[in-house]
Amino acid sequence: MRKIAAHYVFPVSTPPVRNGLITLSDDGEILDLRQMHDEEEGVEFYSGVLAPGFVNAHCHLELSHLLGEVPEHVGLTNFLFSVVAAIGKFSDEQILRSLSLADAQMYAQGTVAVGDISNHSISFEAKSKSPIFYHTFIEIIDLWKANVDELLSKAQRLLSDAQRCKLSASLTAHAPYTMSAAMLRALAQKSTHMSIHNQECADENLFFEQGRGELYKRYSTLAALPPATGKTSIHYTLENIVEVEKLLLVHNTCTSSKDYDYAEGFVRCLPEPVEGSRREPTPQCFDRLSMTARKPNTKSSISWVLCPRSNLYIENALPPVHMLRAKGANIALGTDSLSSNHSLNMLEELKCLAQNFPNIPFAEALRWATLGGAEALRCEHKFGSLERGKKPGLVLLENFDFDRMSVSAATTSRLLTK
Ligand SMILES: [Zn+2]
Repeated sequence: MRKIAAHYVFPVSTPPVRNGLITLSDDGEILDLRQMHDEEEGVEFYSGVLAPGFVNAHCHLELSHLLGEVPEHVGLTNFLFSVVAAIGKFSDEQILRSLSLADAQMYAQGTVAVGDISNHSISFEAKSKSPIFYHTFIEIIDLWKANVDELLSKAQRLLSDAQRCKLSASLTAHAPYTMSAAMLRALAQKSTHMSIHNQECADENLFFEQGRGELYKRYSTLAALPPATGKTSIHYTLENIVEVEKLLLVHNTCTSSKDYDYAEGFVRCLPEPVEGSRREPTPQCFDRLSMTARKPNTKSSISWVLCPRSNLYIENALPPVHMLRAKGANIALGTDSLSSNHSLNMLEELKCLAQNFPNIPFAEALRWATLGGAEALRCEHKFGSLERGKKPGLVLLENFDFDRMSVSAATTSRLLTK
């Protein structure tokens, strides 16, 4: 048993506790959390803040060797094609070394669970041996070729490999602009838990709304693309993956308030909002979901995953954080891969938010970096908050700015317990 205390404890599921004291079992289970009143025996006291282990909701560990390989601010289209060009330059040995190092660093810096995208099996062994809990999203990219059977059986073989390595895993799609409708629909029949890149740049919306823009131009050289629909990309995604139980929409840099209302209404079976009238599920909605429809007031099945530092790296843009907060979205945070970030350290994502959105209380952003991610990965029974019975890991934040109650550039993080 260990008793650990600090100037502040942020349990996440309950308000912060000044001079908080946590009692943990030898294997890291939270036994008790309370305020420490007097000097107590056998307590390890730390100067700083204690928080649950971070949950990184979006990562591509298998791209860790691409650190520094792709220049910043080139825009998504150039970024994607630069990544494809850079990948072939490395041996399996170099890839394995980089991803193992990245995994070890993430853990030491306080990340205990990761939603990780895999297009190959190269990271499976390292992930299965890691102390970090990984949910692996086996990703399909069909580039509008609609070779559904071939790609689906390849993905299912990868899924079996992941499961043989005892990894939690499910099939997913890359992004609307790389997926034929036939492939998306077939995938949605085979997966209940998906993570899709969404509205990462303005060109992604233009691709579907107007059939133009840099992204459309580049992909139209690879295959025949669908005609413009006048609707943003999120419409295309949701209309083709109706049945998915849990959906992570990642990036959302160019998601508007209207897009958000559409998406949340869609998964709750509500029609698009009309000013002055109440939104009720329509009979068509229930037809669409063959009577398994969710009720309007149930918790949304969407997690809105934000990767602010990756957005700055690629597009020099930031996601619509204020809009999502105001709407009460389920927000989670991710680092994306080392091809579009300088580290996989979740604390740096929190610093980036604190710097760019100084009005967001630390406790709220911390929720996105912990419990929000755990809910997205469906592992909130174990991770994401300091609650009795959970084994969420314990992170110490040192050099915390207590005057502003925020992280500062000098703040560091390390995992104190598993
Ligand atoms: Zn990504």
